[in-house]
Amino acid sequence: MKTTSVATAYQIAPRTEKVTIESHVNSEVDEEPPGKRVVIHKVEEEEPPSSNATGRNRLFRHVPDTAWSDWKWHFRNRITTVDQLSRLVPLSTEEQAQIQLVTRRYPLSITPYYLSLIDPGDPDDPISKQAIPSIMELTMGSLGLEDPLGEKEDSVVPGLVHRYPDRALMVLTDICPMLCRHCTRKREWRHGGWVRPDDEIEAILGYLRCNRQIRDVILSGGDPLTLSTQQLERIIARIREIKHIEIIRIGSRFPVVLPQRIDAELCAMLSKYGPIWLNTHFNHPREITAESAAACDRLLRAGVPVNNQSVLLKGINDNAETILKLCHGLLKIKVRPYYLFQCDEVQGTEHLRTPVETGIKIIEGMRGYTSGLAIPTFVVDLVQSGGKVPLQPNYVLSMSENELLLKNYEGQIFRYRNPSVPVQSEAAAPVSGHVESLLAENSRPAEDKGEVNADRVILRS
Ligand code: SF4
Repeated sequence: MKTTSVATAYQIAPRTEKVTIESHVNSEVDEEPPGKRVVIHKVEEEEPPSSNATGRNRLFRHVPDTAWSDWKWHFRNRITTVDQLSRLVPLSTEEQAQIQLVTRRYPLSITPYYLSLIDPGDPDDPISKQAIPSIMELTMGSLGLEDPLGEKEDSVVPGLVHRYPDRALMVLTDICPMLCRHCTRKREWRHGGWVRPDDEIEAILGYLRCNRQIRDVILSGGDPLTLSTQQLERIIARIREIKHIEIIRIGSRFPVVLPQRIDAELCAMLSKYGPIWLNTHFNHPREITAESAAACDRLLRAGVPVNNQSVLLKGINDNAETILKLCHGLLKIKVRPYYLFQCDEVQGTEHLRTPVETGIKIIEGMRGYTSGLAIPTFVVDLVQSGGKVPLQPNYVLSMSENELLLKNYEGQIFRYRNPSVPVQSEAAAPVSGHVESLLAENSRPAEDKGEVNADRVILRS
């Protein structure tokens, strides 16, 4: 049930006032042009997660509670054809023909639960835009790359991407309960549903065993929670046998698109093999429902911390107001906003991509106006296996050996003394005295003192 009380949500207003420059600051520093930054004002209270009962009653009233709360029922009853979709969502004949065309290249799959979140009265509905194919997937399809992140090149054995020294990503399946229109692995959709066969899992485990620098394994897909709990347990238990693997991460959108999957059986299994972290993928505050909140709560109670990785999407969440509301909503359900990704340069997603400046401005509009805990890191994942690059507003106007000129969130500019470390100075004396007394306590012979001082210089240079 939605509340009508008023107090703390936020809206963005263009910055119109002049940026204040502290009088002690060098006047040569350029002022920020008015209107460039955004300011967030508190205007009304954020709503608690609401149930999707309205959508369910409208579309799936006939479905008994036992089926609705069973993830396998949702999975079996995914909407995968234009015929099915047009019976549930108002679509013109032209729209149906366009979707039919798109699905020949990029298939359609929506869970009944996620479909029930769509507001049929909103032509810009953010849920609908993530789930229902758009003709622009084809008309703008010449832009972008099939595999912009170069995941194929980084595959060391089939199904294992090893790009960073201490982490490796296992692709267990290409099946997802919902096919998100902005997906980076859209290229995989045409190959039908598959689950990684046992012999390839064995080869992956062999690689992990032999590469002792890998301490973090990410289970990915598709969505790895598509596998049965028993299948997953077999894999997770084998990974846990490898002593140098410290943590396991699961990348899954199930808490958002089919939260019923996070059931007692799954949580009991995961709780046996910690530390396991789960990264999920909320993109819009409307996705935070009583059901998704309960799924995250079940994971947390099973000892599985939940982080969120959003993708910045045009017309869906590309403004500070929406991202702030999303991040506050996530914190309220104890999910940490972790990354905000620039939408990858993937063929068939160009219509959802935003200029990079949009992401930077969103972070600028949040920083200082809410707790750092609510602010995700905005990142671009580079093409050709370049990896992630964090981007943020530029707060450093100049930097020298002695001083930085820094801009705060309100555009005010400050000098900041840059501490330098003298090689030999009075400031070093107490430290050297402390080092010598420590050494003396450890009965170091007197004749070694010169050596001790030499060590100190090396340490501090
Ligand atoms: S859940 Fe993730 S992998 Fe699956 S379709 Fe959506 S974005 Fe792609």
